[in-house]
Order: sequence, then C-alpha cells, then structure tokens
Amino acid sequence: MKTIQFNDDTPLPAIGQGTWYMGENPAQRAQEIAALQAGLDAGLKLIDTAEMYAEGGAEEVVGAALRGRRDQAWLVSKVYPWNAGEVDAIDACERSLRRLQTDYLDLYLLHWRGNVPLEETVRAMQTLQQQGKIRHWGVSNFDSDDLQELWSEAGGMGCATNQVLYHVASRGIEFDLLPLCQQHHTPVMAYCPLAQAGRLRQALFDDATLQQIAQQKGISIAQLLLSWVIRQPGVMAIPKAGSVAHVQENAAALNITLTSDELALLDRAFPPPQHKLALDVV
Ligand code: NDP
Repeated sequence: MKTIQFNDDTPLPAIGQGTWYMGENPAQRAQEIAALQAGLDAGLKLIDTAEMYAEGGAEEVVGAALRGRRDQAWLVSKVYPWNAGEVDAIDACERSLRRLQTDYLDLYLLHWRGNVPLEETVRAMQTLQQQGKIRHWGVSNFDSDDLQELWSEAGGMGCATNQVLYHVASRGIEFDLLPLCQQHHTPVMAYCPLAQAGRLRQALFDDATLQQIAQQKGISIAQLLLSWVIRQPGVMAIPKAGSVAHVQENAAALNITLTSDELALLDRAFPPPQHKLALDVV
C-alpha cells in the first residue's frame, strides 16, 4: 500500500478523504457520514476539511462521523487567510475544534495566502502547537516563490505540507513546485485528483487513453486517476466521495501500480509541463 509521511509522524495511506461540498444539504448528511465512516473502515485515515466548507457545515459532518472513533482518523482543517493572524487563528482553530467535536487537529493549513504576514501566521501555528490544539501545520495553494519565502521566515521550515491542485490534466506543479517539495521532504497533498464534478471531469472519464488503460487493467477511471496521482513518492490524493461505493472504489486504488508503458501512454495523452506555469487553483 502506498503511504505518505508528515514530518516524523507515523506513515499514512496515500489516499485520504476530501469534504468540500459536504454539510451543504441536510438531506445528504446521513449519506456523507456513512461515506466518511466507510472510508475510515477502508483505511482512508486522513480526512481533509476546512472552516470554509459549508461555512463550518462540513466540519460538523466530520465531527459526527468521528464520534467515538476520533483516534482512528488523521484530521486536517484549514483557516481562512483573513483569520490567519496571531489572535484570530487561535479563535478560528477553537471554533473548528468545537464543530469537529475534538480537542486537537493533526494538521492545520493556511487555506491560501492572503494579506496577513506569513511570519504572523507561523507564530500563530506555533502557539497552537504549544497549546496542543494542532500537531502539525502547513499551507495550501502556495507556489514555489511563496514556499521559498515561507521557508526563509523564522520557524517557516516547520511547514509540514503544501496542498495544491493536481490531476492528470493539470500537471503544472511537476515543472518546479513538486521537485522543490520533494527536495525539502515536504509532502504534497493533491486536491481535485478527480478533476471535480464538471465538464473537465466528464472529458477525462470519456478520454480514449484513460478508458483503454482502465479497461485493460480492470480498474475504473477514478482508480486510474488516483493511482496516477500517488505514483510518485511524497504525493497523496484527497478525493471527495459522497457515497460508500465511491469511497471503497477509491480506497482500492491504494494498491494499484501503473506500469512504465501505461505511464508513457498517459504522458503522450497528457504531456508534462515544459516550462513554468502559474499554479492552478479552483
Ligand atoms: P475531486 O477531484 O475529489 O472530485 C470530487 C467528485 O468526484 C465528486 O463529484 C464525487 O462524486 C466524484 N467521485 C468521487 N469518487 C468517485 C469515484 N470513485 N467514481 C466516480 N466519481 C467519483 O474534487 P474536490 O474538489 O472535492 O477535491 C477533493 C478535496 O480536496 C476537497 O473535497 C477538499 O477537501 C480539498 N480541496 C482543497 C482545496 C484547497 O484550496 N486547499 C480546493 C479544492 C479541494 P460523489 O460525491 O458523488 O462521490
């Protein structure tokens, strides 16, 4: 099984569970909780959420899913950039903890870079660590120059991860950001590994190369996309799945390995970047 390690923590399965758009619709709540719990049962230990998702609603769903089994999950949440100041970040984290019905996060991320100076956010993260409210901290949507700046701040090297958009049709990070993170032993969390739910995702699911490889291997397109994202060391995927069937399908991708011929076919259909591209975001 492919794994990922944050700082010196215990290695985790390299596929986790996203939660964006959970907690929006009360009619879906029971199914979302069941999906997250099935994911935990299937070994998808890392759950990624944020104060932004349904304005706290997703954190509440996660809290309900983890009732009585908090210790089985590795819990990640994120702070809005405008809440990332020295005092505000403490308050925001405490609100997240209340919604999640827990007293600690395994990882707390700055959701994207805003106007609060990075050194202030680093100090807030360190305070939260000292208070035992978070075990690790990291960032999201940071390009190479942002990361270099962060690492040059006092304490900035404590950053445990960078969470960025990455899937087979958006490979820009492979040019410089991913190698930079790998050199610094900073794991990358790939968000939107299935290209979300819109037209691009449909185009991928209809793509002839993906269909051919998936069919020959006896796997689904979603499993192919996930096994492609986690094919390299230091990269994990956090697909969001709203049903038990999808979660179980995604978990099975942890044990799928693509051959060099399959990877070459994918490189031809979805070429890697030949120059620096601006970081893709949603
Ligand atoms: P994903 O690429 O994970 O796609 C989610 C879509 O894929 C949903 O429609 C889901 O449908 C579908 N899906 C899941 N599993 C399968 C499957 N096996 N077969 C077919 N379809 C499937 O998009 P997200 O935007 O949700 O990204 C993943 C996570 O990353 C987010 O939930 C969030 O936690 C995080 N994120 C972080 C961002 C950041 O700025 N840091 C930005 C965006 C996302 P269904 O629900 O029906 O299962």
